[in-house]
Amino acid sequence: MLGGLDPDQRAAAEVPGGPLLIVAGPGTGKTRTVTHRLAHLVLERDVPASQCLAITFTRRAAEEMTERLQALIGPDAQQMTVATFHSFGLRILREHHVQLGLGADFGLADSARQHEILTAITGDERTARRVQAQLSPVRRGGDGDPETEAALAAYLAELRQQNLVDFDDLVVLAVQLLTDHPAIGEEYRRRYRWITVDEYQDVDELQYRLLRLLAPAGANLTAIGDPDQAIYSFRGADVGFFLRFEQDYPSAPVLALTRNYRSGVHILDGAIRAITPSTLVPDRRLHPASNRQAHPIVVHQAGDERTEAAFVARTIDQLLGGASFHSLDSGRVLGDGPGGVGFNDIAVLYRTDAQSHAILDELTRCGLPVQKRSHDRLSARPGVDLLVREMLHVAARTGPVADQLRLAAKAVADTVPEDTRPDIHTAVELLGPLAQRCGQDVPRFCREVLLGAEVDTLDPRAEAISLLTLHAAKGLEFPVVFLIGCEDGLLPLRWPGTEPTVAEVAEERRLFFVGMTRAQDHLYLTRATRRTIRGTQQDRTSSPFLNPLGEAIIQSEAPARRVRPAQLPLL
Ligand code: ATP
Ligand code: MG
Repeated sequence: MLGGLDPDQRAAAEVPGGPLLIVAGPGTGKTRTVTHRLAHLVLERDVPASQCLAITFTRRAAEEMTERLQALIGPDAQQMTVATFHSFGLRILREHHVQLGLGADFGLADSARQHEILTAITGDERTARRVQAQLSPVRRGGDGDPETEAALAAYLAELRQQNLVDFDDLVVLAVQLLTDHPAIGEEYRRRYRWITVDEYQDVDELQYRLLRLLAPAGANLTAIGDPDQAIYSFRGADVGFFLRFEQDYPSAPVLALTRNYRSGVHILDGAIRAITPSTLVPDRRLHPASNRQAHPIVVHQAGDERTEAAFVARTIDQLLGGASFHSLDSGRVLGDGPGGVGFNDIAVLYRTDAQSHAILDELTRCGLPVQKRSHDRLSARPGVDLLVREMLHVAARTGPVADQLRLAAKAVADTVPEDTRPDIHTAVELLGPLAQRCGQDVPRFCREVLLGAEVDTLDPRAEAISLLTLHAAKGLEFPVVFLIGCEDGLLPLRWPGTEPTVAEVAEERRLFFVGMTRAQDHLYLTRATRRTIRGTQQDRTSSPFLNPLGEAIIQSEAPARRVRPAQLPLL
């Protein structure tokens, strides 16, 4: 079972029991190691699969881990619980709805429903929006303005009145239940004797408290992650929980993995240089373990966002062998290395969603297929909430979820204004693969949509270029990565009239590090000298994060003298 691991990974996978911390950089096989560890426990150490709980950061990661476990263990893998904190919380709530005063068939409020309730309470939509934005921080124990504090109790009462919980409730109520009912806490501790948490650097206060309730000091808890990839503090994540693991679990061995199997040597060198000024890991190292070709990191300076996009399109065309037309036909051409480069090998990453427009326009104009995903909640995407409501409404109907999704889309497209119909169409496309996977189980489909992030619907097998926010790219890898907008003000991000704090700049640098380390063979860091930001043209300077990269690993490209849109053979 552990044959596919290197000696360090193997040592980590073989730790017999008790708490364990694995601190390791990107591409060192953390996710691979925990997956093999679980398989090893079940197959070779007689741990019942039903006692294993694996927590992942996204539903997509959970699905991937389930698939890998099934391949390693076989049908027994179905006995394992692989979940995100929120889907695990939902499971606890379902099992103990009585103690929480919820009906057996309680539902999950989407953000549109939250907005409706808050509008009714506060009396106007603007206040409702402001209060809604503060709900999560307040639920995590932060301070809100008096309006939010005042609205909160009424909001929760109305939710319960409608037999609903919201997204935050999934963890808040689970913590409350296990705290107020020690016997129930004990029941879960007995049931889940083996717990692993991937991406531990991004847990928030409530998730941490839930975990402490499930796994006291001596428990078999494996936490795995990389403090230098902590990038979700805007959602309340706190890398401090990672850093205090050794206090919380004093008996835990701390193991490191430093061999990187993902990236070429120049990319690794650049990434280490980039993170060094604010690394949270003493003696941060990554040794190249793959024998990938060492392509230099290309740093490209464009005139504006349009020529930046044209550079991306032109380079993609070159990588595809200057034959996008044929690659569209065959899905894959011989471009670079044995398997060739296909569309799904390529990702374009950016700090803000606004940057995606120019890229999306240009790639679409060139006839290149794309799938664009952010880290936002899936239900916040236009049309998705309407489809789910419609499907819940007619849930009595039986038959494949995919058919019901199409029927729901038809029904919704009668009811919405003409100009929003394309949203419904896009939403159906986005949800199609999930609908297929859910078979006939409509409630599961609706649950997964309401719990999911947009990036959960990224289809790694689809022949399409991935357009992703940096946050959404966490945990993923691609042979070819473009990280666009490497400019001061975007990396680090700066809001008008404010300066980022030292801690904020450090997190932005980690985000840059996460972006760079998604790349396997080719990494392009691009920037524009002028860019339209919120409707006005601005002169831009280079991101300070580019400074430590060093000349040796970089191939710098000046802007083309005459700025012309890319002429692809396809056109
Ligand atoms: P991240 O921090 O970005 O989440 P990670 O540490 O979780 O990265 P993985 O995604 O598990 O890294 O592994 C990175 C890549 O390296 C994967 O393609 C994986 O299959 C490969 N890999 C990991 N360990 C080995 C190994 N021992 N032999 C060959 N390939 C490996
Ligand atoms: Mg990982």
